[in-house]
Amino acid sequence: MIIIMRSHVSDEEIHSVEKKLEEFGLQPNVSRGIERTVIGAVGDERSAHKETLEALPGVEDVIRVMKPYKIVARESKEESTVINIRGIPLGGKAIQIIGGPCSVETQPQMDAAAQGVADAGCQLMRGGAFKPRTSPYSFQGKGEEGLDIFRNAADKHDLPIVTELMDVRMLDSFVDKKVDVIQIGTRNMQNFDLLKEVGKTHIPVILKRGLCATISEWLMSAEYIAAGGNHNIILCERGVRSFEKAYRNMLDVTAIPVLKKETHLPVIVDPSHAGGKAWLVSDLSKAAIAAGADGLLVEMHPTPCEAWCDADQALSPDELKVLMSDLRLLAKAIGREII
Ligand code: PEP
Ligand code: MN
Repeated sequence: MIIIMRSHVSDEEIHSVEKKLEEFGLQPNVSRGIERTVIGAVGDERSAHKETLEALPGVEDVIRVMKPYKIVARESKEESTVINIRGIPLGGKAIQIIGGPCSVETQPQMDAAAQGVADAGCQLMRGGAFKPRTSPYSFQGKGEEGLDIFRNAADKHDLPIVTELMDVRMLDSFVDKKVDVIQIGTRNMQNFDLLKEVGKTHIPVILKRGLCATISEWLMSAEYIAAGGNHNIILCERGVRSFEKAYRNMLDVTAIPVLKKETHLPVIVDPSHAGGKAWLVSDLSKAAIAAGADGLLVEMHPTPCEAWCDADQALSPDELKVLMSDLRLLAKAIGREII
């Protein structure tokens, strides 16, 4: 940590900063220049309160040297993390495409969806039983019954299931029903109590980026999960709010290589909620894979125009098949593979 003092600072002001740093367990080193005095603080700066130091008289600026996140930072673990989902690796050389409908509707719909996912060659399936809807009058999801429908359909093809947890009170059901991957949706990225609870399990978690979250805020949310002991975290970029109205959200492709540098956690992309239109999904998927994503979360519905939720952005089973074969070629070209 570096503390930059104002010009014409008094000795007394410098001493009070030194004293405060020592109280925080840091070792101060004062360097007096002609114009400015700078105090370097050596030690674990996480124990120091930046705001307390900033408020001291004579202090102009306080700069942290270390990252605010620890466990999820690449600097604490150089090799990329590979998450094991019932024997299926996510991260590393393989790219995983998670396909399935926005929401669980009926058993026949989920059976057909699971068939489509398996036929396309995806190894994991998505589907929401608890839906975060903007309007309280929209379909809210089938709830626990939906988890059973989903499990039934996916088990016929031995597909691990990915589904969203919105309320901490449902966590026990998710554990009992052996949900393979818990999705924390965009709207809950900073629901810290929810993050803490999933952090106490060892179930892999897909943590979606908040609507307006910075990369640093997102990684701090991942740190909440990791701090509880659950290091099985997958980050999912799904587009952020922007000024543009021509599509649903702006896919932040730049975030992918930035995350790869900042964290060892796998990064996947949701092209469906980014574009919001089925015709955009293929191009956005290719951009994501080319930029280094470890996987995709793609909405597919057996009959897209009949979907109860997000009908406009759902691929048909045939479109998912075509996407998978295009992506296989792309993966090969960049030295990765889709098994
Ligand atoms: C979803 O994946 O079903 C979903 C609701 O996405 P998001 O949280 O990204 O809006
Ligand atoms: Mn959706």
